[in-house]
Amino acid sequence: MSFADKLWISLLAIPGASIERAFWYFTLAGGAWLLLHVVLARWLARRRINAVPTLRQMSWELLYSLRSLAIYGLVGGLIVFAYFSGWTQIYIRFDAYGWPYFFASIGIIILIHDTYFYWTHRLMHHPRLFRLFHRTHHLSTTPSPWAAYAFSPLEAFVQAGIAPLVLFTLPTHPLAFSTFMLWQISFNVLGHCGYEMFPRWFVRSWCGRLLNTATHHAQHHETNRANFSLYFNWWDRLMGTNHARYGSTHTVLPGSGGSSSKRSALASAIIGRAKCTNGCAPSETRAGARGPTAASPGERAAASASTTGGAKPAGSTRAITGAAGTATLRCPPGASGPVT
Ligand SMILES: [Zn+2]
Ligand SMILES: [Zn+2]
Repeated sequence: MSFADKLWISLLAIPGASIERAFWYFTLAGGAWLLLHVVLARWLARRRINAVPTLRQMSWELLYSLRSLAIYGLVGGLIVFAYFSGWTQIYIRFDAYGWPYFFASIGIIILIHDTYFYWTHRLMHHPRLFRLFHRTHHLSTTPSPWAAYAFSPLEAFVQAGIAPLVLFTLPTHPLAFSTFMLWQISFNVLGHCGYEMFPRWFVRSWCGRLLNTATHHAQHHETNRANFSLYFNWWDRLMGTNHARYGSTHTVLPGSGGSSSKRSALASAIIGRAKCTNGCAPSETRAGARGPTAASPGERAAASASTTGGAKPAGSTRAITGAAGTATLRCPPGASGPVT
């Protein structure tokens, strides 16, 4: 195939790849929003993890996501060019590797992505990189399903990087990669949906120790630190980056009753506006997320209403009273370092 033909096909593939990703984004994020935030909102009120996102927030989450979809299309076009140049490991005939490999490859891609996401995510939380790469995503302190692709342009390229990483190194059928992408966006939307759909006992079960929950990622958005993993909890366990309150928070907030503002106050208090048991400082001071969007005025007011504010002396304890009762947070000696 001539260079001009490859270029032409690749250019056509750019909008095609964007449209395909947009279809799944709008179907799943839109479906989750319509179902959870509109149709079943009252019925599921007791399962809300944190404050209800505003329409304004969801608008810019959507706009940022549209920009990311354009970037994903660009990367898709480059991969099509690479495929026709013979640079990728993409195969078309199913019998080239057989069906067992086809299904195994989906699992392998998920594992590769889980690892890729954890380490690139942690890297993007480095103070020198955060503002440039990852701050846009963290503008959503109480994310909605529309936040699934709300990234800065640089982060969108990092997120899209899983495609060339896999397709240049692992023999992959396009259908296997599409299946992985469907899993990816489904889990992504679940993590940002704002509702904890798993029962209270789940996080302590073997399955809950394996799979992350919406509460897990909500804590990450609330605190800007801890809970960096995507699908599985093992990297956070292995590296000691699970939030100290993950697990207990999961069982406190859903079904705790009370108004959403009270639950928001309790969430803010427990999850991180106060010092937490492993001694991490409020992340905005180290990650560069300070500003009017780092926490809404309502959240800050709610948090300050629930906590006394300011650092407690080392080793002291304080009680925080919320809708679900009283939670005691311990401030260990030297409580200023981050989780990571
Ligand atoms: Zn997120
Ligand atoms: Zn993050």
